[in-house]
Amino acid sequence: MESNKKTQNVLVRIEETVRWLETLCKNWEFFGVEMVSRTITPITNQGKNPSEELAKLGKTLEGCTRCRLSEGRTHIVFGDGNPDAQLVFVGEGPGHEEDIQGLPFVGQAGRLLTKMIHSIGLSRKEVYICNVVKCRPPQNRTPLTDEIATCSPFLLRQLEIIQPKVICALGACAVETLLKTRQPINRIRRKLFKWQNIFVVATFHPAYLLRNPIEKRKAWEDLLIIKKLLMEGT
Ligand code: SF4
Repeated sequence: MESNKKTQNVLVRIEETVRWLETLCKNWEFFGVEMVSRTITPITNQGKNPSEELAKLGKTLEGCTRCRLSEGRTHIVFGDGNPDAQLVFVGEGPGHEEDIQGLPFVGQAGRLLTKMIHSIGLSRKEVYICNVVKCRPPQNRTPLTDEIATCSPFLLRQLEIIQPKVICALGACAVETLLKTRQPINRIRRKLFKWQNIFVVATFHPAYLLRNPIEKRKAWEDLLIIKKLLMEGT
């Protein structure tokens, strides 16, 4: 008799959970977002200080010559921002200004990224910004497959250390590195992906938006999805 009651309670709990999940999914559908899971093994970072861990990781890159991009660089551009950020932006690689200053997204595209961050009520100090490769490719060309393969483990470790709620993948290189897909941004934006249990939202790289300002409206829609994700459960 007692065990029947317990079983019934469990079933009621399961039903309530299923209803809650249904409601959650409907909310996302209403927002026009398709859920796509890319969950890999969850990672933990318990008891570690993200600021110290990032500093240690940065040290391992000092003077790095692991790939040919070291040949033309002035500075390694490791990343910048809040080690406890809820939101991380991942771009492709440093450009001319970034290479000179040693900081990510400080040129014209960086100014646009700053505006994008402000548009969702955040500042650059509240988020973390980094790139797939840490040294400037010559003439700002797209990083080559072997360069990405050599440098991207450092990006992935950065993300594991920070463990944000949302990663915004800026452009094809970041998307390909994190989601292992070569689909164009227009195909995969407005879909929710996960990397290591962290939401990934894909949008256009600010440098692309500077060349194609007509796409800024779409980027704004993507930023609203990020804002919604950040606000959920807060
Ligand atoms: S791009 Fe990355 S792996 Fe290549 S030299 Fe720079 S820091 Fe090292």
